[in-house]
Amino acid sequence: MQRFSCPLCGTSAYFHNLTCVCGAQLAYDPQTQSMVVDAFLCVNRARIDCNWTAPRQGAFCASCAMSRVVPVLHVGDNLRLLARAERGKRWVLANLAQWGWFTRADTGARPRFLMLSEDTGGRTQRVIMGHAGGEITINVTEADELIRLKRQLDLGEQYRSMVGHFRHEMAHFLFDRLTALPGFLPAFRDIFGDEREPYGEALKRYYADLPDPGEDYITRYAAAHPHEDWAESVAHLLHMVDFTDSFVSTGLTMAGVPDGYHPYVEDDTVRLLGIASEVAIAVNDINRALDNGDLYPFVLTGPVRAKLAFAHHWLRSALAAAARSERHSA
Ligand SMILES: [Zn+2]
Ligand SMILES: [Zn+2]
Ligand SMILES: [Zn+2]
Repeated sequence: MQRFSCPLCGTSAYFHNLTCVCGAQLAYDPQTQSMVVDAFLCVNRARIDCNWTAPRQGAFCASCAMSRVVPVLHVGDNLRLLARAERGKRWVLANLAQWGWFTRADTGARPRFLMLSEDTGGRTQRVIMGHAGGEITINVTEADELIRLKRQLDLGEQYRSMVGHFRHEMAHFLFDRLTALPGFLPAFRDIFGDEREPYGEALKRYYADLPDPGEDYITRYAAAHPHEDWAESVAHLLHMVDFTDSFVSTGLTMAGVPDGYHPYVEDDTVRLLGIASEVAIAVNDINRALDNGDLYPFVLTGPVRAKLAFAHHWLRSALAAAARSERHSA
């Protein structure tokens, strides 16, 4: 993620900032990908601290508008959980917009989000995250850090976050969009296997065995089914592109990272992953000074790199022209 600046005084502004030290009310404009003042504000601003602009007075921003269902907000912690979850969604939408996805120039379908809480005010409901037919279910209960950490430990996962959930579930949605492109599916099946393999049975087998991911998969869950392998691979590609983008935008430099490097514009996956790995190793070292965990605790094997390269090629090129015209018209 880039750093932004206040249009009135030039002070650095972060993606989620609502105000500047100069007193300006900041809003993030997803079209121009910049901080603005004097724009229509998302009607969710006061309620959940959404800082995005809206297309007109009294409207939702592009991100909140995708949330078709939200939890009962006066119940328990639901308001805070929704606010925390929506932050992650805006972040990931802004990342994908760098490659043209869901921008004004992209005329394709948008995901619809069911933002559900386990706390319904009466009985606790079970919420399973997933994607089906353009609808993405997100369990906002996991925006609670203790609950999420407990599940991460129970599942033996090395990393679990709301941003990660959005990257994973949006990858399933993007798969459906990409299948419309000639050549995508046969090339996908060559690398990930046949996604028509019955899903329910594969998941049942996975939870019964919890197989070791071995060399072929980025995570254990990726081994469950070709669809999950794709979603995990895309999520990890986005992790790496985005933390490298954050590194560059802070102004930090180091050997191996070219001056003025722009990870979202990079088309050479080998180079991208090489640079991202250098950054990860460096930040891991810094984290050890505070006894914190690794920034990115994964190792990329040859087969995993090939999957990330495939995802990178298709996600970048599908809407490259749309992304370019968007930036020019903004
Ligand atoms: Zn300012
Ligand atoms: Zn909003
Ligand atoms: Zn999935």
